[in-house]
Amino acid sequence: MQQIDLRKIYRFYPLDPAPGPDALPSAGDLYYECLECAVILNSVPRAQVACNCGNLSGNDGKIEVKNPERVRVVRGRLK
Ligand SMILES: [Zn+2]
Repeated sequence: MQQIDLRKIYRFYPLDPAPGPDALPSAGDLYYECLECAVILNSVPRAQVACNCGNLSGNDGKIEVKNPERVRVVRGRLK
């Protein structure tokens, strides 16, 4: 699967306070960083996406998280 390193385009800031793993927010400017494989994906994916370890996968505006304890929610701003 093709992957773009979003860190080249965006700066990421962790949400403060960090949301609990049982209620991860999603929005166009929010991204999920997989703490297992360090891949960052948009929380509202327009196309099929997945992180390297399979913890995160998504499509059609929805992202599925296998283990929310191993996700950091970050806000992305264009550099
Ligand atoms: Zn992963």
